[in-house]
Amino acid sequence: MLNPELLAILACPACEERPPLELHGEYLVCHRCRRAYPIRDEIPALLVEEAVPLDEIEAGEKTPRA
Ligand SMILES: [Zn+2]
Repeated sequence: MLNPELLAILACPACEERPPLELHGEYLVCHRCRRAYPIRDEIPALLVEEAVPLDEIEAGEKTPRA
């Protein structure tokens, strides 16, 4: 599982306010812009291009793209 200290310093790259991210299964979620960033091999992919809409995740618990 992701290190809580690491989680605390991570922030959404899409939001200027850099809001904190919330761990949600295999994703880090930004509730401000409703993007979810996949975590692969315990490394979060904090890239806007990698983000999945939070709605999709809540709809079907989609697995991260390989
Ligand atoms: Zn955001």
